[in-house]
Amino acid sequence: MVEFIKITPSVYAHVMGETRGNVAFINLRTSIAFIDSGIYPTVAKEARKVAEETTGLKTKYLIITHYHSDHILGNQVFEDCKIISSKDTYNLIKKDAEERFSEDNIKKYIKENPELRDKWKGLRIVLPNETFEEKYILKEGEKTLEIVQVGGHTKGSSYVYFKEEEVVIVSDLLFSETFPYAGDETSDIQQWIKALQIIKKLQPNIVVPGHGPITSVKEIDTYIHYFEEFAEKIEKYVKEDKPLEDINIEKDLPSFPYHVDETRIKMMVEHVYHTIKGKMDK
Ligand SMILES: [Zn+2]
Repeated sequence: MVEFIKITPSVYAHVMGETRGNVAFINLRTSIAFIDSGIYPTVAKEARKVAEETTGLKTKYLIITHYHSDHILGNQVFEDCKIISSKDTYNLIKKDAEERFSEDNIKKYIKENPELRDKWKGLRIVLPNETFEEKYILKEGEKTLEIVQVGGHTKGSSYVYFKEEEVVIVSDLLFSETFPYAGDETSDIQQWIKALQIIKKLQPNIVVPGHGPITSVKEIDTYIHYFEEFAEKIEKYVKEDKPLEDINIEKDLPSFPYHVDETRIKMMVEHVYHTIKGKMDK
């Protein structure tokens, strides 16, 4: 059974990793809104069942925070719902559905990774059916959710703010206690810093990250600080014409308070270096 933690009177989150990317749901009193669908349709189906049994309500909405597979591959379980995302996220999912997760590629992944056979059985990409630019207000009875596109982690990345209970679901804009994935081709560290500053200004009580445990604004501060220092250092190296391969990840970068994932930090250095250089060359 997929376990959810009740974090406020109406908000529940699964952060134990069974869905890979964290998923959450909100009891809107007359229906349920899910946020993200995880990486396995089979697990998403179970999560939906748990949510509906817990609340005695039907799921009406699925809000997608960004296009990464560990947040959207369970979408097919919510095909009867209003599936909401930013237009940019929609476009990126559509591109992935045609390329990375085409029918043939899905078959290939399953063949190469037999452990996926059951979990990805019948997997197909289901696109959002309601899109927005910048901001979407979801009103259901007396409950209001604000979905806001801020970008940063990926183009189109959005957060879900439930003001009434002072909770913000930020998905991968925050990897709590975990090294972030900042290697996406549409990722932009400077935009990401701005996004985190916008979220911080909401002064939420509780922050639900895309990976890792439930957390607070303090953790957002930690990442703003780390990203700022990181971007500053890389900018300096770009200005000095220091070659990318000469950057030593242990000596030349700011310290990170948790375990550093070596593959991820290398991707991040490379991506941030090229992004900053690209902006300077313009
Ligand atoms: Zn992501």
